Amino acid sequence: NTFAEIDLGEALNLNIRRCKYVKPTPVQRHAIPISLGGRDLMACAQTGSGKTAAFCFPIISGIMRGQFGQRAPRMPRTACPLALILSPTRELSCQIHEEARKFAYQTGVKVVVAYGGAPINQQLRELERGVDILVATPGRLVDLLERARVSLQLIRYLALDEADRMLDMGFEPQIRKIVQQMDMPPPGVRQTMLFSATFPKEIQRLASDFLANYIFLAV
Ligand code: AMP
Repeated sequence: NTFAEIDLGEALNLNIRRCKYVKPTPVQRHAIPISLGGRDLMACAQTGSGKTAAFCFPIISGIMRGQFGQRAPRMPRTACPLALILSPTRELSCQIHEEARKFAYQTGVKVVVAYGGAPINQQLRELERGVDILVATPGRLVDLLERARVSLQLIRYLALDEADRMLDMGFEPQIRKIVQQMDMPPPGVRQTMLFSATFPKEIQRLASDFLANYIFLAV
């Protein structure tokens, strides 16, 4: 079982080889085919399990294939990403951004990161240059939504990373506000992946609220 056997698209497969990934980790081996097959996913995964690639590969592959019809007309100052990756901290968001950029190299898929505790202006300029995948912490994203600098109307992929940590940090209201903004246009087109190290009641409730007919994966 190697990455070469999984059809993720030529440019992405090349980047995976550049990263020297040969064999998928257990979470990747199961999560990637589930996501490529269009199903929602709730996965139990620890740091170091390779979960970043597990949610990035299907997102990048899907955007490269461009199976989303027309892009909305560009509103000059409002960024309309196709995928959103939410993570609890600046450090984790930056790590995900760095990895996702390597995976998306020369694919035409643009990745931007936005996190709190840092000036917003540089992030606004990045967003204005266009974004397909937005990696963000919940608080900063709510700020960007309130300023109408990001719209979630085109979101086709949502990944929640370290969901248990986000809830521990008190981000549940922000996360719910964010997801509410995606639920307007055609239902059933958004694909959601929820990653968490633990599965307390609160996480199960998020899963039943945000995921549709999902597959539970514990590796
Ligand atoms: P993560 O759990 O996503 O933080 O990944 C942990 C580390 O494993 C990172 O340094 C990744 O670059 C690396 N990694 C992820 N998937 C693979 C793979 N299939 N083969 C080799 N290294 C990997």
